[in-house]
Amino acid sequence: MLHNDALDRWDRESFMHPSTHLGQFARGEMPSRVIRTGKGVRITDRDGNSLLDAFAGLYCVNVGYGRTEIAEAIAAQARELAYYHAYVGHGTEASITLAHMVIERAPRGMARVYFGLGGSDANVTNVKLAWYYNNVLGRPEKKKIIARWRGYHGSGLVSGSMTGLKLFHDQFDLPLDRFLHTQAPCYFRRADPGQSEEEFVDHCVAELEALIAREGPETIAAFIGEPALGTGGLVPPPRGYWPRIQEVLDRHDILLIADEVVTGFGRLGAMFGSDLYGMRPDLITIAKGLTSAYAPLSGSIVGERVWKVLVEGTDRFGPFGHGWTYSAHPLGAAAGVANLKLIDQLGLVENAREVGAYLLDGLRAALGDHPNVGDVRGQGLLCAVEFVEDRAERRFFAPEGAVAARVNAALLRRGVIARAMPQGDIIGLAPPLVLTRDEADEIVTGLHAAVREVLG
Ligand code: PMP
Repeated sequence: MLHNDALDRWDRESFMHPSTHLGQFARGEMPSRVIRTGKGVRITDRDGNSLLDAFAGLYCVNVGYGRTEIAEAIAAQARELAYYHAYVGHGTEASITLAHMVIERAPRGMARVYFGLGGSDANVTNVKLAWYYNNVLGRPEKKKIIARWRGYHGSGLVSGSMTGLKLFHDQFDLPLDRFLHTQAPCYFRRADPGQSEEEFVDHCVAELEALIAREGPETIAAFIGEPALGTGGLVPPPRGYWPRIQEVLDRHDILLIADEVVTGFGRLGAMFGSDLYGMRPDLITIAKGLTSAYAPLSGSIVGERVWKVLVEGTDRFGPFGHGWTYSAHPLGAAAGVANLKLIDQLGLVENAREVGAYLLDGLRAALGDHPNVGDVRGQGLLCAVEFVEDRAERRFFAPEGAVAARVNAALLRRGVIARAMPQGDIIGLAPPLVLTRDEADEIVTGLHAAVREVLG
């Protein structure tokens, strides 16, 4: 094992970390955090500190750490056949089995799954599918994609264009042409505090209608959204939002892409968020919970309506010209099969629902009355606490983010990892779906103490 001093030096001299303040890290002004082991909901760092990971890595280690069933499935696959590609009709038993299992679990009307590596590339695939669909249908001008402000769809050029967070746009000249954004469905942050939830949904729908009218429905290919917003603040949709949006999309013949990278496979206490909120997606993006991050794997699930046109397209124009070397990688597929079996065996979808409700109740009881807590929200094991400077006036702290960062640091000192979400003063919680009530209590106790320390 490397000595800590060498680890620290090599880390600072050689490793460029994602989503990190590069200068501060290189100069040693922020800690290098090396994680060595994990078991259940806990990880241990190189100094032996045990931490309760209430964000499941990046809300992806859904079955928890240290599951030997998955590790052994990956090892067995690596020994037998570490790699073969999936081009021109090739496959492996693991990738075919996983495709079958995904379609079995997917919302109704889903026909096929195309495997990629991560959520960003699966969203690229879905955009290309929407474009190809309209090319086959002889509508080459119907190509624009509408996403939402505060949506998160990845960091690639296309997926980053759909992401609706300034941090991901301004540094890189994004969004690209063809990518538009509409109202974020965050009721708590509505511009008009007097608006009811229903009126706010009317407003979201009117904004979408106006954007479509401005651009021309004949130019819009698809609308993309996370069933419940993730990185943009962990926000379940306002009541009735998705059926109303769906109606607009249907009327203008616009495809719906449900980005279920976070919400797929149980996070919200339902197998998919689309089922929970009454969405009828044409394309679904999956990643994270597909393998619980034991190996990188993502997927684009293709609905019947698009699938029929894809078949017609390749009959007319020849093979589908889109593939990654690592599409349906056997090690990812083996991890996925073992992972989905575990989710069933351990009843994790139900556990997310039950322990999620328990955690949310606990957060509300402990923090709901605090003068700086503006909102406590959640669905399943995706919960958030949002802080405000003044609760009666719903005035946010300025600049936003510093308070949540301090609460997050205070919580970490108490042995619990949460995440300060990037836009606002929001503490996000998305623990592994194996969380117990005792562990939920630990999170609530820790967060309560951290809030008291920072905000009194
Ligand atoms: N979509 C959503 C909803 C996500 O939360 C993420 C990642 N957090 C992505 C897409 C991108 O996935 P990846 O980082 O695996 O490319």
